[in-house]
Amino acid sequence: RRAFYIGRFQPFHLGHYSVITSIARDVDELVIGIGSAQKSHEATNPFTAGERVMMIRHALRDTDITHYAIPIEDLQRNAVWVSHIVSMTPPFDMVYSNNPLVIRLFEEAGIEVHQPPMYHRDGYSGREIRRRIIAGEDWKHLVPPAVIDIIEDIDGVERLRQVSRTDI
Ligand code: ATP
Ligand code: MG
Repeated sequence: RRAFYIGRFQPFHLGHYSVITSIARDVDELVIGIGSAQKSHEATNPFTAGERVMMIRHALRDTDITHYAIPIEDLQRNAVWVSHIVSMTPPFDMVYSNNPLVIRLFEEAGIEVHQPPMYHRDGYSGREIRRRIIAGEDWKHLVPPAVIDIIEDIDGVERLRQVSRTDI
């Protein structure tokens, strides 16, 4: 059995990691969709799809989870979004998501959706981690160690701070 899980992973954090290790107990393989793949260098979407592929690959390196991380560009047409995903991914039997729109679209397409548990949603949140990086507060305990290394290698802290500023 192969499952599908989608997020923007800006950045990949320990909430995502916990969900994925829990899904992996139910299924043989996991397809991970990297949403808004075309976006990067924005305050809300600082990292490229390729950088997010690296975060996921290295964060899951020490697990035995067989995964396929597939970048998915946005489509401004929700009615055909599931077909867009299916056209880009290895075949999957079920979806894990807590996002109401994602749940609705897959259910309308006749695909089984499971809702995974939430882990420390207050801190393990992309928005909160980006806020902390910009503010110079502690954030490293909220992401897998491999993700710290990647963000440092790509000068991600300075990038996020710089693209968050304005010219006025
Ligand atoms: P952002 O604040 O940028 O939206 P996020 O933390 O919600 O970031 P996403 O990339 O939007 O991360 O998340 C992908 C999926 O992971 C979403 O369906 C979201 O509900 C889920 N998720 C995010 N954080 C957690 C968490 N702490 N525990 C369980 N699921 C989570
Ligand atoms: Mg989110």
